[in-house]
Amino acid sequence: MAKTPIKNQCPYVKECGACHIGQKSYEDELIEKKKWVEENIGAYCNKVHDIIGMYYPYHYRNKVHAVFGRINDEVVAGTYAKGTHNIIPISACMIEDVQASAIIKTVTELIKSFKLWVYNEDTQRGLMRHILIRKGMSTKQIMVVLVTASPEFPHKNNFVEKLLEIHPEITTIVQNVNMKQTTMVLGERNRPLYGPGYIEDVLCGLRFRISPGSFYQVNSEQTQVLYKKVIEAAGLTGKETIIDAYCGIGTIGMCMSQKSGRVIGIELNPKAVKDAKANARRNGICDIHFIAADAAAYMSLMAESGQKVDIIVLDPPRSGCTKEFMEAAVAMAPKKIIYVSCNPETLGRDLAWFSKAGYIAQEAWPIDMFSFTEHVETVVLIQRKDT
Ligand code: SAH
Repeated sequence: MAKTPIKNQCPYVKECGACHIGQKSYEDELIEKKKWVEENIGAYCNKVHDIIGMYYPYHYRNKVHAVFGRINDEVVAGTYAKGTHNIIPISACMIEDVQASAIIKTVTELIKSFKLWVYNEDTQRGLMRHILIRKGMSTKQIMVVLVTASPEFPHKNNFVEKLLEIHPEITTIVQNVNMKQTTMVLGERNRPLYGPGYIEDVLCGLRFRISPGSFYQVNSEQTQVLYKKVIEAAGLTGKETIIDAYCGIGTIGMCMSQKSGRVIGIELNPKAVKDAKANARRNGICDIHFIAADAAAYMSLMAESGQKVDIIVLDPPRSGCTKEFMEAAVAMAPKKIIYVSCNPETLGRDLAWFSKAGYIAQEAWPIDMFSFTEHVETVVLIQRKDT
């Protein structure tokens, strides 16, 4: 197979550090990622399949963020240079959605023409801090989140009107107020300035609502590949009771619920749980329940009360899962555990633990969701040894 030509058109790659585009072919990157997964989990997993790469590895990010700042008295939007808080102005990114880049450019121009102050981290003065754009790749709905340092937003109606005039494709605009001195982009308060304050996207035939602060996979196309792999690995008969731990807005559990029995989704972020409940209603799914709780703590309670489940799907953050989580998981005696991991190192550590607890990792499928970055996702089918 011919290699993807190494596109070296990104002028920011060295300072930006968010990706390594132009340094190696995508095919070589995939080979390295598979090797990385094998090195970390090979000792605990019977078979590591070939990595499933992206068909078109550019402009896949459906979530785009930029920080506002001033350079030589000019308003700019961009990203912090690697390891610093110096802003590199970026007008186009090869892994981000193209429409999002265009909207960021327009908003930067509007900030200038409306003479709005850009927030300064050192003095903690100014208004406009960040912009976050989320796009439903399937629905084409676009949400623009303007993060401000104060609830006051001078000329906001005219600003919104002008932005919509230039970008009628935007379906909602939200003001997020972040008054804290923090590296977190979003503050607590969201105020819709136009539209419903959220977007929807379709994954595996289901419709999901996504709010500004909820987790949603950034690469929609590969997410469907990943979810289908999870469903395939589960081998559902229609009767299983499933836990979807670290469920976000409930996407995996809902996709599985169509072919299984009862599903329980557990998620720490209450805003994501609110989205998850709304998503279940939106799709007419009844046999699914969402709980806003720490997954380990809630599952420990379930285990203590003697509850058993058939399948546990878990999709934890990079740190992997805790001993408390794994102990609770095995105490519920699931026949299958399907581990979706974004970090081969913590995955290897956790598979080693499961192998000592009577569970064996049968198959793993590395899936690339983030081309030109150091990240790789892996789905692992873990089975109870006596099944
Ligand atoms: N499965 C979802 C989300 C995965 S991201 C999807 O595919 O979209 C991981 C999620 O775990 C995030 O939504 C995060 O808020 C949640 N999370 C982090 N720590 C948690 C914990 N201790 N208990 C439950 N959920 C947690």
